[in-house]
Amino acid sequence: MSVPMKSNLGNSPALDIFNLVLQGKANSRRDIAKILSMRPNTVSDCVSHLVEKGIVWEHTEKGGGRGRPVVTLAPNANKFLCIFIQIIGLSAVVTNINIAGQELWSQTSELPAESSTADILEAFKKLHQQALQQVPSQSTVAALVFSLGGILDIKNKVWQFSSRWPNMQDLDLKQVHGAAPYSLHLYKNINLELSAHDLKRTGNEETTLLVHWGQGIGCAVSPTPAETNQNAGRFGEIGHWKLSRTANARCHCGNAGCVETIAALWALQPHLKAKWPDIADDELTIAPDLQSLDLLGLPVFTDALNAVSNVITNLNFLLFPQTILVSGPFVQNPFVWAELNRTFLKDAMISGVDTPKLQVATRSSELERLGALGKIMPDVLFRHLSEIRQDPG
Ligand SMILES: [Zn+2]
Repeated sequence: MSVPMKSNLGNSPALDIFNLVLQGKANSRRDIAKILSMRPNTVSDCVSHLVEKGIVWEHTEKGGGRGRPVVTLAPNANKFLCIFIQIIGLSAVVTNINIAGQELWSQTSELPAESSTADILEAFKKLHQQALQQVPSQSTVAALVFSLGGILDIKNKVWQFSSRWPNMQDLDLKQVHGAAPYSLHLYKNINLELSAHDLKRTGNEETTLLVHWGQGIGCAVSPTPAETNQNAGRFGEIGHWKLSRTANARCHCGNAGCVETIAALWALQPHLKAKWPDIADDELTIAPDLQSLDLLGLPVFTDALNAVSNVITNLNFLLFPQTILVSGPFVQNPFVWAELNRTFLKDAMISGVDTPKLQVATRSSELERLGALGKIMPDVLFRHLSEIRQDPG
């Protein structure tokens, strides 16, 4: 899957051309003119810009016989890259990714559950420095990107809270970035996942709800219904909705009675471990273990499933999405999936309204990266290319 290059800053024929070359849909001026219905002179000007700006390479094949030499175009996907830091299980993973979404280098740092704010800050700083040392000399770093879960202050670039690291509080990511000559971005991981799903279906105007049921419980919606709150990074904390029947159960967020206290993996884990001691600890590695277990035979689990089904049903009545994606380890179990669908369809029926079918979405670290690239790279390239148009010489 590649990242479409559509900038929010404006239309750029050169960027459209770069997009074609990047995706391998065209490698000659003639193909570009045909696909984009552009005048050959305009195409030539734009390609010259792209070549001059170093994001497209020209290769002239001399050819043995008659006719003009053939000029083929290739993308310089390594011209810009993002240093991307995300959480996988109980680890922070840094990846240098290029414009095409290819991984150039990656490094993992374990963050034990008892890590303090200072420990995690130190680990992030180290990963950032290591990533910088691995940047190829011809590449320019476009951005340092964090994709995190929990509660974020996106405007101030602060990671406020995560149920995985209860001792971590208000980690200021600006301290990781320092005075680096590139931008700093903070995104909520589930929002990046959803935007990567959206990229697959460009032109789709439908409302999509993504619910994650894993270590924590959260959701994202596209198109975004409340832009302001999305920007603050506080949206869809459905795991901390209150259920009066759980009133005394303490949640990782510091409150009591949250949905997560009966339905999140962190809350279910002691019960699962008691019955199946060998299962893995981590959200990603536990999925294959859970797949074949009789989870529905465990009353605490059916209680959890009903709570999650209620949450999805209520979100459905709030948003009336056309598509509902559900990700996380539990829905990989076919019996759990069937039961979740059954309870949801039973509860979410409204006469005259189509109830959307639930779809399993696989959570992957790659989706987060592609979602981030799709948000950042087009604007980086747009700016890079517009400079040349303002350049008189
Ligand atoms: Zn809570």
